[in-house]
Amino acid sequence: MKVVLDNVTKTFRSRDKQSKEAVVAVDHFSLEFPDGKLVSLLGPSGCGKSTALYLLCGLYKPTEGRVFFGDEDVTDIPPESRGVGLVFQNYALYPHMTARQNIMFPLQNLKKENKLSAEEMNRRVTEAARLVQTEEYLERKPSQMSGGQQQRVAIARALVKMPKVLLLDEPLSNLDARLRLQTREEIRRIQKETHITTIFVTHDQDEAMSISDLIVVMKNGKIQQTGEPQKVYDDPCNLFVSKFLGVPPINIFNGSIKEEKVWIGEDCVLDCPDLPEQEVYVGIRPEGFVLDQNGCLGCQMKAVEVMGRDLSVIAHNDAAETGQFRSIIPSDTAIDKENESIRFSIKPSKIYVFSKETEERIL
Ligand code: ADP
Ligand code: MG
Repeated sequence: MKVVLDNVTKTFRSRDKQSKEAVVAVDHFSLEFPDGKLVSLLGPSGCGKSTALYLLCGLYKPTEGRVFFGDEDVTDIPPESRGVGLVFQNYALYPHMTARQNIMFPLQNLKKENKLSAEEMNRRVTEAARLVQTEEYLERKPSQMSGGQQQRVAIARALVKMPKVLLLDEPLSNLDARLRLQTREEIRRIQKETHITTIFVTHDQDEAMSISDLIVVMKNGKIQQTGEPQKVYDDPCNLFVSKFLGVPPINIFNGSIKEEKVWIGEDCVLDCPDLPEQEVYVGIRPEGFVLDQNGCLGCQMKAVEVMGRDLSVIAHNDAAETGQFRSIIPSDTAIDKENESIRFSIKPSKIYVFSKETEERIL
């Protein structure tokens, strides 16, 4: 089922009692989450991801705007009647119950005409446990399970009512690095198997990029850009989005446009016919540099880090935002480490130009 936030705004009274100003947590947010897809809401802490999720599940009512599930306006429908499964960051299983009892709990609470037979409940629990591969520890209590196992049980508990929409709020942040990788692949697998429309909240760009059909990059309660992960990475609409995606991050230089060319310091790095003269930010992805003695960009080599498959050359350039920038080049590149003064050419698809005034992308 598709889910729609239509021009939704949510404001809160400030937590700071002295302050009279309202906090705008979600700001005129309009988006259709397509049926059967996994969409990630991605952005830094405090940008409104959780609030957007709680508006979807009905824990919050919008200050303005409407929420639709399919064609039905659910804005005034309470959470328990919306058919959503919700998983939080801290899995919050009931400690005195086994995994099986935890998963079954939402079914036991069904009222009247929705009541299920014991047989049907057991069938559903077995099916949910199979999906998240927790069959072996169904009789264990949370204290006898690892964090990853507990989180799977929490996901099974959200799936057992066969929700139309699955909402996950930073479900992996309490897991260690390896489990995080494993569990995110698991979530992707389950989502593909069930085709449940899934909305996944995270501040981790790597996590969002790796499992999503679509990512929604947010800042200050507003959508910055929506698209397929690779597309947004390759084609960021503004400086914020370009900086938020990619590890190591994009390198930003202070540059300028003069005489229809883009300059970094004294070096001309790109032609830009028809653009007016102005100050700009030039962003270059680390993988966009090619060591080349005739290259357009000069710099001083500071360090070479071995990364296994690749080398990372750290170099100084006065125009770089941090004084230094980082390039990633193949590990078989010959580097004369005595020669401090080096030059790079730049792959045209890896260079972006942003207006200094608006931070919007102009090239
Ligand atoms: P995220 O999940 O992206 O970290 P949140 O949606 O939790 O962000 O919060 C967005 C903004 O709204 C933050 O500035 C936060 O402090 C504020 N906020 C969230 N919930 C409340 C609340 N119940 N009362 C007041 N301010 C809130
Ligand atoms: Mg949050």
